[in-house]
Amino acid sequence: MTGANRVKLKPGDTVGILGGGQLGRMLAMAAARLGLRCQIFSPDPESPAFDVVLNATCAEYADVEALELFANDVDVITYEFENVPASAAMVLSSRRPVLPDRKILETTQDRLAEKDFVTGLGIGTADYVDVSTAAGLRGAIARIGLPAVIKTRRFGYDGKGQAIIRDGDDPGRVWTELGTKSAILESFVPFEREISVIAARAADGTVECYDVTENEHRDHILKISRAPAAIPATLAEEARAIAGRIATALDYVGVLAVEMFVLADGGAEPKVLVNEIAPRVHNSGHWTLDGASVSQFEQHIRAIAGWPLGKPVRHGAVTMTNLIGDEIKDYEQWLAVPGATVHLYGKGAPRPGRKMGHVTEVAAVTKSAPPR
Ligand code: AMP
Repeated sequence: MTGANRVKLKPGDTVGILGGGQLGRMLAMAAARLGLRCQIFSPDPESPAFDVVLNATCAEYADVEALELFANDVDVITYEFENVPASAAMVLSSRRPVLPDRKILETTQDRLAEKDFVTGLGIGTADYVDVSTAAGLRGAIARIGLPAVIKTRRFGYDGKGQAIIRDGDDPGRVWTELGTKSAILESFVPFEREISVIAARAADGTVECYDVTENEHRDHILKISRAPAAIPATLAEEARAIAGRIATALDYVGVLAVEMFVLADGGAEPKVLVNEIAPRVHNSGHWTLDGASVSQFEQHIRAIAGWPLGKPVRHGAVTMTNLIGDEIKDYEQWLAVPGATVHLYGKGAPRPGRKMGHVTEVAAVTKSAPPR
């Protein structure tokens, strides 16, 4: 029992959000448009989400008293990042419904559990092996071959906690540098492109998927997303169906992102492999803010509020460009681009690799003039 079926918010009710980054900020802005209030919980006093809500709790996730007071102030609780400590989720869910359900975090916080879950559904992933010692890594390389990608099982993001192993690399050294006791080794996927599907699922089981997004990374960080992805319609349908199956199998309530690789497969039909599930709104769905009738943020709020999901209609061909680190300094140039919509996250120092804002450009689909 997730508590999802008990939630039916009314305008004026309060959503509690764990995490105060740009995702929390954009969730709170979407909630405000629907007449809902938000309270943010974050240990970081500089949280950009604090700027857009009246009530915020600045405390550690281990602070049980602060968690309990926060829970008392809100009607439903959600999160903007997947590494919510299990202990915090437990304290909160004893007081208020936490959506998506905290048990989902156990699967998605651990790359091995996540891969086992996805392959258990009969959905393809890269080949993978559990690794917990340097000797285990040697054995895994013998099974999977090189090149391969070693990833820590927990707390990896934006390429952190992973490394490519190539012929000639010393596995013992790679293992020491990774600095963990639990990892997985994945075969290197010679992908043709990377795509993602943003899916929303309501408590009654309704699923709505956005059009497939194509993603371009620089230095392991998402730089550009384009929707729709330039892939055959059958493949796009397959990708959306996979995301829907994952959401349903998790009994998910809210928005999730499924990242996938498109494999060219030597001239045969291209196929998709799932890389990762993000149990939250996702950077590759930011285009929906300006490029679709209902954004991923609104869709998530609708789902956790117990409201009907929107049927997202895309307004045209959409490009989303992340402003990373110093690129934020170009914001005035972006403001001058005709048709561009600029989103700045209100963050302080533009450290290298830090996501500071994004820009959406929508090329409207022009309908041909009606015959006279
Ligand atoms: P992840 O943290 O798993 O999302 O990986 C970050 C990025 O590393 C992905 O977006 C890919 O560009 C690349 N990557 C991850 N796993 C693999 C793999 N098995 N084969 C090839 N590239 C990968």
